[in-house]
Amino acid sequence: AKYEGRGRHCFFSNQLEEALLSRHAIEQLIRTTVKNQSFEVHYQAKFSLWEYRIVGVEALVRMRDSSGRLIPPCEFIPVAEELNLIEQLGEQVLKTACSDADKWLPDHPEVPVAVNVSASQLKRTDFVDRVMAILGQSSLPPEMLELEVTESALMQNIETAQQIIEALHNQGIVIALDDFGTGYSSLTYLQRFNIDVLKIDQSFIQRMGDNNDSLAIVKNVISLGKSLNLRVCPEGIETQDQLKELIRLGCEMGQGYLFCRPIPIDEFIRFMDDVKNY
Ligand code: C2E
Ligand code: CA
Ligand code: CA
Ligand code: CA
Repeated sequence: AKYEGRGRHCFFSNQLEEALLSRHAIEQLIRTTVKNQSFEVHYQAKFSLWEYRIVGVEALVRMRDSSGRLIPPCEFIPVAEELNLIEQLGEQVLKTACSDADKWLPDHPEVPVAVNVSASQLKRTDFVDRVMAILGQSSLPPEMLELEVTESALMQNIETAQQIIEALHNQGIVIALDDFGTGYSSLTYLQRFNIDVLKIDQSFIQRMGDNNDSLAIVKNVISLGKSLNLRVCPEGIETQDQLKELIRLGCEMGQGYLFCRPIPIDEFIRFMDDVKNY
């Protein structure tokens, strides 16, 4: 199902049962979930496009309503931002992701974890210290942590964001630009910010097959990545045709339902074992 609430398109994975809560109910849910730290983190693998191998994973936050139904992030993240609870939630997710990655790292040292960062986290000058403190509580090396930021988040406070990105990068943390292509003046940001990875927004991947402009954009982002020495990670790969096309364009890694959906930690660890022993 597709939701178009709160001014943004919100695609809902089939895996999540549909649940539309009232604004009040969502607020309540966020407050309790943050207070009790009762959110969940699901993990979606990033795959090599050339061989059957996991090369990374993205942590995606989940909340359940009182009946146990999963609420999609696009329903609650914007509200958490408005309630000023996104920083707390973001930090809790980061903590969980680091300690989960700590658990799988001995068996899967090649699988770094990526965590989404919201705009308000990038406005705080102490964000770097907070991230480093959380990293310090785990045995995860900074190189195994990737932070995904969007262009629009960078844009909201360019000066601070630039300093933060710079400092995180200097610590060895990997920085990915999320939803690449959906913001504006993208190229300016690539010069200005210390970015390591470009994540091509799923809308381009999904339109690639029947829209020449989308195909041209994907093609050009891949070659831009190569010339700037950035890794490129297309999102939302759902079909074999999309995969074939991305391979033809020289893309090396990617993410999408074709490979796997976001799943809970236990399932994800089993999945990593299966892929490794395949
Ligand atoms: P995102 O960072 O762009 O994450 C990718 C979204 O695309 C995820 O949706 C994922 O489940 C979905 N997806 C992955 N592969 C496919 C595919 O092949 N087809 C389709 N149609 N969708 C696919 P999800 O988990 O619902 O998250 C939505 C957004 O919520 C994320 O978009 C991110 O912006 C935000 N989000 C999720 N977790 C966090 C978090 O911990 N902190 C913050 N600040 N934002 C988060
Ligand atoms: Ca992301
Ligand atoms: Ca440490
Ligand atoms: Ca994205």
